[in-house]
Amino acid sequence: VNHVVVVGAGLAGVRTVEALRGRGFTGRITLIGQERHRPYDRPPLSKAVLKGESDTSYVDTDLDALGVEFWPGVTAKSLRAGVVETTEGEVAYDGLVIATGADPIRLPGDGPQHVLRTLDDAHELRAMLVPGARVAIIGAGWIGAEVATAARRAGCVVTVVESAATPLATALGTELGGRTLPWYDGIDVRFGTMVDSVDEGGVQLVGGEFVEAHVVVTGIGVRPAIEWLADADIDLHNGVVTDEHLRTSLPGVVAVGDCAAWWSRRWRTRLRVEHWDTALNAPEVAAATLLGEEAVYDPVPYFWSEQFGHMLQYAGHHPAGDRLVHRGEPEGKWSAVWLTADDTLAAVLAVDRPRDLVQGRRIIEAGSRLDAERLVDPQVPLRDC
Ligand code: FAD
Repeated sequence: VNHVVVVGAGLAGVRTVEALRGRGFTGRITLIGQERHRPYDRPPLSKAVLKGESDTSYVDTDLDALGVEFWPGVTAKSLRAGVVETTEGEVAYDGLVIATGADPIRLPGDGPQHVLRTLDDAHELRAMLVPGARVAIIGAGWIGAEVATAARRAGCVVTVVESAATPLATALGTELGGRTLPWYDGIDVRFGTMVDSVDEGGVQLVGGEFVEAHVVVTGIGVRPAIEWLADADIDLHNGVVTDEHLRTSLPGVVAVGDCAAWWSRRWRTRLRVEHWDTALNAPEVAAATLLGEEAVYDPVPYFWSEQFGHMLQYAGHHPAGDRLVHRGEPEGKWSAVWLTADDTLAAVLAVDRPRDLVQGRRIIEAGSRLDAERLVDPQVPLRDC
């Protein structure tokens, strides 16, 4: 491999560049990024940046020292074998990394609609979170909950509209999601409510009601940013399809991060995980694969969220588990685990109980079984269950 082109200058893209150099690759690397910023981390955007505690979240990396040709503000438009077509012309590659991440889904309507994906989005939104501003947040998922946290703290009058019966229902199910409902104290919450459109001055709900708002933030999820690959001869299905080595169906092409749907040996299914830990760690494997080395990406997926003064941490893949067991009462610090039919730990959710997360993640990695009787006592450390 002489020339590696990396499309997407987010965390997954820049980490792949670092991993290539770390493995001794001395050839040419071109990093193409649609945004004008150098690579930055997104988790702080809905936390420190939105709260005004920090202005940026640039990844601590030196692109010059890495010997990278960085093309900011350039978009890849299409791909054919060996060539990426961009807004600045064609680039030939002999190794290609697809790391284009994901784009927020928007709702219909002509009214101003904020999303939170980029640093620019965060700055724009932050300027509008002023005391007394009426803020309507559509979606009570991870992003919605974190934006609601920042907006309430800024003294805004907050409404949250969510089609499911509880917050975090898609990610965790309504039983656990419902445990976070008391955290929405002081917020006007509308669960089981569908939005028709975002209009001038607010949100039109299905059924006729209009929620007035100065600021509307849509946080209903993302889609893998793969439209530019629509005409390429590459397998796409809920993202760029890869094997366990992060190899795509096109020779010399790997995919990483939010856009990649990889084959998980551990869970025997295809996973696409839109979380930071994947963008951080999958690139080691992608780089190795591109350089012809043998490497497998087989993580226990990990994720965290900071909302309403609580730290939520999740590890595992709970569709693999069929029994939910609670540890601790909803009023305090608690966690929950998903067990498979033979009491193997499939996933753990820890709320303000970081030890359960750390121990749980190790237990999942080891594939050990737990004693469900001991598990329900939150005083017993998970590793002793
Ligand atoms: P991205 O970060 O999306 O980077 C992809 C880059 O590619 C983008 O800069 C994009 O502009 C560019 N691009 C796209 N298409 C093209 C193209 N055609 N040509 C050129 N460039 C292109 N995860 C957690 O685990 N915990 C958290 O608390 C958490 N908080 C988050 C908060 C926010 C507000 C957001 C948005 C995400 C959060 N995440 C969190 C998720 C995490 O940030 C993502 O999983 C991670 O950013 C994925 O990295 P990536 O490099 O795959 O994609």
